[in-house]
Amino acid sequence: MFLKGFKPGVYKLFLCMYLLQACSATDSASSASESAVEDLKSLWKSGSQKIEQAWDNADPIQINTFRIEDDIRLGKTTDLQIQSTQKIIDAKQYPKLYNELQSITNQFLDHADFDHKLDFLWNVTVIDDDSIVNAFCTPGGYIYIYTGLLRFVESKEELASIIGHEMAHADKRHGTRQLTKQMGIQLILQFLAGDAGPGLLAEITGNLLSLRYSRAYEREADAASVAYLCNAGYPANGGMLFFKHILKKDKAFRMQLLSTHPNPEERIKNINQLASQKSCSNKLKLPPQYHTYLTALLP
Ligand SMILES: [Zn+2]
Repeated sequence: MFLKGFKPGVYKLFLCMYLLQACSATDSASSASESAVEDLKSLWKSGSQKIEQAWDNADPIQINTFRIEDDIRLGKTTDLQIQSTQKIIDAKQYPKLYNELQSITNQFLDHADFDHKLDFLWNVTVIDDDSIVNAFCTPGGYIYIYTGLLRFVESKEELASIIGHEMAHADKRHGTRQLTKQMGIQLILQFLAGDAGPGLLAEITGNLLSLRYSRAYEREADAASVAYLCNAGYPANGGMLFFKHILKKDKAFRMQLLSTHPNPEERIKNINQLASQKSCSNKLKLPPQYHTYLTALLP
């Protein structure tokens, strides 16, 4: 399945699509990571042949050669592409819909721990496509939610958990960390040195759009979402609802969704385990009218 107007491969999309997977990792832009990057930069500047070796020896998933401002810049560039190729629901025409979605985002920002709360935009955009039950978030905090997902969710907890998961991908900078790993150090450092002409920037953005997250990043985003929900007053295990919901659907629908949302059973188990370790409520309220309320806000 492809998105109209996107290049092939883009549908694999993003970054942040709720549950893609691939390799392995642990998190955090630690000082160890920063010093590893600095070492690589000085090797690059000195023109040393050892740079390839240093790159091979580094654990690329641990490091991010992009700066915070690069995340913001890449997010902006990608946003321009999305705004010009996708059918976007106009925020001015549908203020109640946007208020609802932005208020969930703001609850997390106000009550949970973010590394880049003030650095990134944390702006929600709704893409009008009922056939896609998904959401994603680019570097810099640009959050995109498909109408297909908004029509699918039954509860606010379910929706909030997905938004939280996507925000975690951006806050933990999974996009540029995964790009660091995939693109190779020379290209990245060329970009950082300001040598990114339109060709290189397009290449980086293209890679961003076709990026698949590692399994470890998905686990990390699930765990962060549990914490955000807990801190913002939602049941911490709200995230399992989305996966339970998928499992309730008929086989054809499930097969379609599971290609981009794999391992629901494992994720339900992990989310419940993480939530049980939190000291907040796991009691789901599930007001049945939320689906009706939310879909009434859509065109
Ligand atoms: Zn994800």
